[in-house]
Amino acid sequence: MVNLSLYEKGVFEQYKSNSQRARVLSENWFSSQMYCPCCLNLKIDDYPNNEKVKDFFCPNCSNEFQLKSSNKKFTKRILDGEFNTMMRFINLNKTPNFFLMHYSNEDWFVKNLFIIPKFFITSSIIEKRKPLSDTARRHGWVGCNILLNNIPDEGKINIIKDEKLIEMEIVNKKWNKMFFLNKQKPSLRGWTSDVLKCVEDLPEDKFTLKDVYKFKDYLEELHPENKRVEAKIRQQLQILRDNHILKFVSRGNYRLVNK
Ligand SMILES: [Zn+2]
Repeated sequence: MVNLSLYEKGVFEQYKSNSQRARVLSENWFSSQMYCPCCLNLKIDDYPNNEKVKDFFCPNCSNEFQLKSSNKKFTKRILDGEFNTMMRFINLNKTPNFFLMHYSNEDWFVKNLFIIPKFFITSSIIEKRKPLSDTARRHGWVGCNILLNNIPDEGKINIIKDEKLIEMEIVNKKWNKMFFLNKQKPSLRGWTSDVLKCVEDLPEDKFTLKDVYKFKDYLEELHPENKRVEAKIRQQLQILRDNHILKFVSRGNYRLVNK
């Protein structure tokens, strides 16, 4: 049974600042309590001797995880590392899975925790930041943000929601539901995820091809190199249908499955 408390007396005595405590406590919690959403192995390990960013991996299926924690709810954007490195990792299919933890530094409980599977990390959700100013120590350095609003709901899998633990089997089912994206090339995967996001944003589960065409400008902006956006939309709807995310009701009419 997963314990939602982060508190450890020893860590509290050893560290004076709450941000240091939070970092250590959240990492300790993660390697002692968290399971692998992909294979349900009950333990996730951390890579030793990596001082900068603590990364984790599943000793059973080798999935890699990065944990980001905050005492505020994650809403729009998350700060990440260097922009070009991130884009290179996306193209090489080497991004980790991101766990986002929201904790309270009053009662030191995990309030919310969700995972963004690596196959939802695409160039469409990465925002380039302004280069650091000349006065900064690393001037000229360009970072990036992860845009949470550009990720479809299917790509944000809840593990803890409002201090309630979601069943492991449900988490695993959600992971598997979209796992087909992992087999796609990174460029195609971005399209599938972006079109799914548009479909989710429609007011009804039932919709028409015309409804999705309304997102043409949005999709064009995310994929400026592609001039045949409508054809791409149709192709993506087919991929989503083939993987049981959508149903084709009749010509030009669709329905989202289990929204
Ligand atoms: Zn695993």
